This record gives sequence, C-alpha cells and structure tokens, in this order.
Amino acid sequence: MTGSFRRFGQYDVILLRDGLFEAPAEVLVHADGDAARQRAIETWGRPTLQVDVNCFALRDGDGITLVDAGTGTSWGPKYGHARSALLEAGMTPNQIRRILLTHIHGDHALGLFDGDAPYFPNAEVFVPERDFAFFTDPAARQTIPEARRSGFAIAEQLQRIYGSRIRRIGEGPVFAGIEARSLPGHTPGHSGYLVRGEKESLLIWGDALHLGDLQPGDPKIGLVFDLDAEMAARTRRAILEEAASEGWTVAGGHITGFGRVERVSEAYRIVPA
Ligand SMILES: [Zn+2]
Repeated sequence: MTGSFRRFGQYDVILLRDGLFEAPAEVLVHADGDAARQRAIETWGRPTLQVDVNCFALRDGDGITLVDAGTGTSWGPKYGHARSALLEAGMTPNQIRRILLTHIHGDHALGLFDGDAPYFPNAEVFVPERDFAFFTDPAARQTIPEARRSGFAIAEQLQRIYGSRIRRIGEGPVFAGIEARSLPGHTPGHSGYLVRGEKESLLIWGDALHLGDLQPGDPKIGLVFDLDAEMAARTRRAILEEAASEGWTVAGGHITGFGRVERVSEAYRIVPA
C-alpha cells in the first residue's frame, strides 16, 4: 500500500490507504426525493458501494502533519492499513507533530487512539471548532438518529486522551501553507484543507463527496452518512465548481487517489491527476 510522494507548495504529500469500505447501494440519498434516489441507485447499477478509506501525510522541513488518521484497530483487520503505510513511507507515529481532522467520524479519527493512549504521543490534534462543539453537546445528540451518533463517543475519547493538545480551528490559515475550508453538511463542522502551492494546490476535501464516479455527475446524490443532506448537496456543488475553476488537485477521505475536477455540461467529472 505504499504510494509515492507528490509535491504541493512546501509539502511532500502521500496518500495512506486505510482500507475499503463497503455498503449497500441503499445508503444513497437524493436531495430531490425518492424518485430521484431510485434513479441514482439504478444509475449506480451495482448492489454495493465500495470506496477507499484514506488519510494523508504531509512532510516539510518542520515535521510531519497528518490529515485524518484512519481507523486504527477499531474497525478490525480489513482496515487500519494507514498505520503500516505510514511506516513503509519511513515515518513513525512519534514523528507526527500535527493531525488535522476533517470531521469527527470513526474512519477519520479512531486511528488517533491506541486503546486509552494516544497513538501519536507527540501530536497536537486540530479539530474544526463547529464539529467539536456539536459532538460534545448532549442536546445535539438527540437531534440525529441513533445509528449516526458515533461521533459523540469519539469526541469524548478525543478529549480524554489528547486533552490539552486539542486545537480548535475555524476557517482560514491553520499554519504555513495550509488553509481550513468550511464544507458543512456531512457533519456541521466538516472541513477540507487546502495545501497552497505556487504551481499546484491540493484540496483534501474529506467527505464532501464519497463516490468520485457518481456524485460529480449529480451533486445532489448523497449518502445517508451526510447529517444534513441538503446542506451537503449545496456544499458539494460549490466545492466541485471552485475546484474546477481554480484547477486544484483534489483528494479526499473516500475518492480514489488524486484527481482534477472538470465541468461537464451542468455538472462535473473527476479525472485522475
Ligand atoms: Zn468518511
């Protein structure tokens, strides 16, 4: 699962593949309602969805930063390969200085933990402020279905294990060459990270979209895992448009590899970069 580093601005970036997530096609939703949802499922044409689970390592002269942390050992032996990919790329958990979370979901955050200890003992964890506020609010817990509540337990674990090393961040520059972009909908504080380069910039857009060969063609297609489906659909269209017009390279929690967004009539497609 070793990849090769790509250069964006001051960072060498490597994609760490954690595993392959499978779900029935019934997890698809559509902002225009049930008939549109049925059409989306037919267009997909397969009984299951299969998407990569990714996180990223960014290396510069100042150390190593991760964007998301994979699942660790929490999702069993089919997952957690980001840890071995990190080692194969010549980096150890002790060397990780900073971790940027796109949002507080298990496939992005559980890799932070080694039981009740931090897997990255020397790292600060940067968390979008609005996700932190939401997933630590007992009242917010009641507003979403039981099956979607895992983020609350993870936020509790995060506070217990990383404590004073948590940094809550808003939109804008986080540190040299990296900006947080608010991409709400999948979760309230869901964020992407834009790695600015003079020649080429990289947007790591987290879970703004999951299916790189379906959702760009119809950004109103979502997954039940989007907590606010309508907001997620608006965010998805807006960030696809911005990525296309800016010419950014894109990558994320679940699309395959690195891509570029192109406009196709009223919608978009992702081509490999
Ligand atoms: Zn995810």
